Amino acid sequence: MTDHGNRRYVVTGAASGIGAATASVLAEAGATVIAGDLRWEDAEVTAVGEIERVVLDVADPSAWRALAEDLGASGHSLDGLVNAAGITTRARLHDVESTDFEAAFAVNAAGPAFGIQALAPLMRRGGSIVNIGSAAGSTAHYGVAYGASKWALRGITKTAAMELGTRGIRVNLVSPGYIETPMTASAPVAFREASNDSTPLGRTGRPREVAEVVAHLLSPAASFVTGAEIAVDGGLTGHGGGLGTARAMGSALPLA
Ligand code: NAP
Repeated sequence: MTDHGNRRYVVTGAASGIGAATASVLAEAGATVIAGDLRWEDAEVTAVGEIERVVLDVADPSAWRALAEDLGASGHSLDGLVNAAGITTRARLHDVESTDFEAAFAVNAAGPAFGIQALAPLMRRGGSIVNIGSAAGSTAHYGVAYGASKWALRGITKTAAMELGTRGIRVNLVSPGYIETPMTASAPVAFREASNDSTPLGRTGRPREVAEVVAHLLSPAASFVTGAEIAVDGGLTGHGGGLGTARAMGSALPLA
């Protein structure tokens, strides 16, 4: 585990799923975590360590500005930001409405952009930002507004990496496949089965498997990585559809 002692991070969506796991991994590694979410009843974050819970609506730019003012007033600088807050919208192309696009883009795309706008000024050289994208952001996805918002987040990530690089601040995207969280618990069973079937590792992922990659990207060990997209998806997006063909052709290598 990378040492994050004496480092200070903001993590959004930190009451649940991938955000909660990220806050826990960072706190266990010695960091102080400012954990933001809409509400804290029934929160999953359980780590021992320095976790300060704040109510934050990432879709509200004024909430980000207020957080930046509080952090600035405390006199501490910030070492990083993890934009993990997200919502899913499952409407298909035939029934999607403007409200689906508005909601998905406000939280999944504009939210991270406003977070970077507000908090990057508090970071020194060596600061690191990680946006949580999705396999849906580099493939066709049945939930059209959700997928489009994650495609947008890739562009925001690359723009931020370009804009902040001269200040020595890195910005990267981690794109999970199917991870077992409250978000996917509400998904249709058919979606889970189809995802498993398309995943070379043949299983779903766990929130900590995403969090460990995020923690690495935040750390100085990743000091020359910026503008990158790292898939944490069991190989889902890597085969680009070739898995079905490979299975039809039979095993290429004898198993040990
Ligand atoms: P999750 O368990 O539902 O956690 C998301 C958290 O974000 C929830 O606590 C949610 O609060 C919070 N949130 C929603 N809107 C917010 C807002 N406006 N401001 C602040 N917090 C807000 O979902 P997850 O699976 O961990 O997802 C985390 C991220 O990973 C998301 O960006 C998601 O798109 C991405 N992702 C997940 C998967 C997966 O398979 N799980 C795959 C690819 C990408 P409420 O519960 O109160 O709404």
